Amino acid sequence: MPDMTHETDTSDGFQVFLRSLREKALAGQIRATVFDSAVAGLAPLPDVLERIENQAEHALSLAAYMEKVIPETRLRRARAALRANRPLLLELESRFHVEPQVVVAIWAVETDVGRQRGTTPTLAALATLGWKSRRAAFFQSELIAALRIIQTARLDVADLRGSWAGAMGHGQFMPTSFLEFAVDFDGDGRADIWGDDPADGLASIANYLSKHGWQRGLPWGLAVDLPAGFDFELSGPDQVRPTGFWRDLGVHLAADGAPADYGPASVLLPGGHRGPAFLALRNYHVLTRYNNSMAYALAVGVLSDRMVGTGPRQVAWPDEQPLTRLELHEMQTLLAGQGHRPGSIDGLMGPDTARALRAFQKDHGLPADGFPDAEMLRRLRAAQALRG
Ligand code: CA
Repeated sequence: MPDMTHETDTSDGFQVFLRSLREKALAGQIRATVFDSAVAGLAPLPDVLERIENQAEHALSLAAYMEKVIPETRLRRARAALRANRPLLLELESRFHVEPQVVVAIWAVETDVGRQRGTTPTLAALATLGWKSRRAAFFQSELIAALRIIQTARLDVADLRGSWAGAMGHGQFMPTSFLEFAVDFDGDGRADIWGDDPADGLASIANYLSKHGWQRGLPWGLAVDLPAGFDFELSGPDQVRPTGFWRDLGVHLAADGAPADYGPASVLLPGGHRGPAFLALRNYHVLTRYNNSMAYALAVGVLSDRMVGTGPRQVAWPDEQPLTRLELHEMQTLLAGQGHRPGSIDGLMGPDTARALRAFQKDHGLPADGFPDAEMLRRLRAAQALRG
């Protein structure tokens, strides 16, 4: 028998949430009539609530992530999409100065070139997340942005569909990104990023990259070999130096020898000093603006290269499981206990924790890559035990 008390509590709580949201929306210049008709009949989505509760899923190893996000089947579909949409992509390139394979790589990673655009009603998804998730404030702003789209863009509540997390259309735009970057490329008066015709969706992706500083003709990054004795303290996306600096240190393009002048660059070690190395250029940072994750930017970058036959054919992505949040928390506590400063002890990896880990690695004669793996955690525990 269903627990009716619980059902009633849930729906009451949601109605209270909607009332407080109404004030915020109206303060944000959403018209009362728009708000009231948009939320009429809105209810929390059970499968979104379930996702919120099961978010502690284990992070994938980089190898497993790449297999999931850019498998060979997706590469083949991306290449086919590149051919099938060539005239459109060339028009986009001349208007936004972003290469076709880069737009398609994002399209492929986000929605498998439009095949998985999502059918979850966006307003209901965002309302559920704005009500119950840990990042409630973020999703409430996105919900108000979605209402603004309905108010200004000649769209209906039912038109806004996408992922359970509120990302919409071919390029999986959140509503705030839609308001800022969506483009009506075919000129019918609406930026339609949802429909079967991908023109507006792909133009919107290209516009997003362009507005974030994409430089046509510059690679996103390059696979490199590091010279023997490379100082791993110099690695990390925040350590930006001219290409010539790296060339003088003996950093070699894995394929073609010494890099040309590609402007500012940093050395990325996504699996620590034992894993593959990349030289990340300006465009790498543009890709992280689409999704702030090194693994994401590497996946898009490598896929875009492989679509046109450049870049490394095989990358030996590390298959070690990343540390959990709990383990990172312990690592930070141990670093702090041993006189290094990991920043706030929150179980999240950031530049301060990397710096503290490098200091520990240097003290113990280890390659100072700042990479938090199981071996570093073991060594920190051992060092702590020795201190008594
Ligand atoms: Ca249009």
